[in-house]
Amino acid sequence: MSFTLPELPYSFNALEQAIDAQTVEIHYTKHHTAYLNNLNAALEKYPQFFNHPIEHILADLNQVPEEIRTAVRNNGGGYYNHILYWNGFSPDGGGEPKGKLGQLIERTFGSFLSFSKEIEKAGMTRFGSGWAWLSRKSDGSLVIHSTPNQDTPLAEGLHPVIGVDVWEHAYYLRYQNRRADYLGAIWKIINWEEAEKRYLQ
Ligand code: MN
Repeated sequence: MSFTLPELPYSFNALEQAIDAQTVEIHYTKHHTAYLNNLNAALEKYPQFFNHPIEHILADLNQVPEEIRTAVRNNGGGYYNHILYWNGFSPDGGGEPKGKLGQLIERTFGSFLSFSKEIEKAGMTRFGSGWAWLSRKSDGSLVIHSTPNQDTPLAEGLHPVIGVDVWEHAYYLRYQNRRADYLGAIWKIINWEEAEKRYLQ
């Protein structure tokens, strides 16, 4: 069994308050699909990996044969990161987090505002392509960081809570070069219920 693309949890135009329909459609049907197809193609020679959860493969890339390791790192990472990305948004999202995660964010970063500014800074200072993250450390504490390309927090021993794609393909049609405007807009669509669920996982 090869890896498959989970359905988008909303229509292409559902995130319009932050991300336009054409960007969502191309990003999901072209970019995300390409990562999936390239991952499956790379694993064809080593089909035993189709039985492993993608999280386990990415958390320990050294177990992947060297011949396909870079392909799995890039395309497996792209496959996994984009599943987090889509499920991390909702047309009914936005606002401020409540519950345990909301409390911890306040305690760790001082306020929701300073938390959001730090995520935006992580995205702005990632040179070239990559991701900004809120992740959970093994001791339960929170950390804001970024990764290059399609590298995942899992490879650093971190558990992702929120992932924001800062590749140009994620924002260029509406925002052109204005990555900061895209980062400022995503707060309208963050699915805090999903983030809380991931934090508690
Ligand atoms: Mn992307």
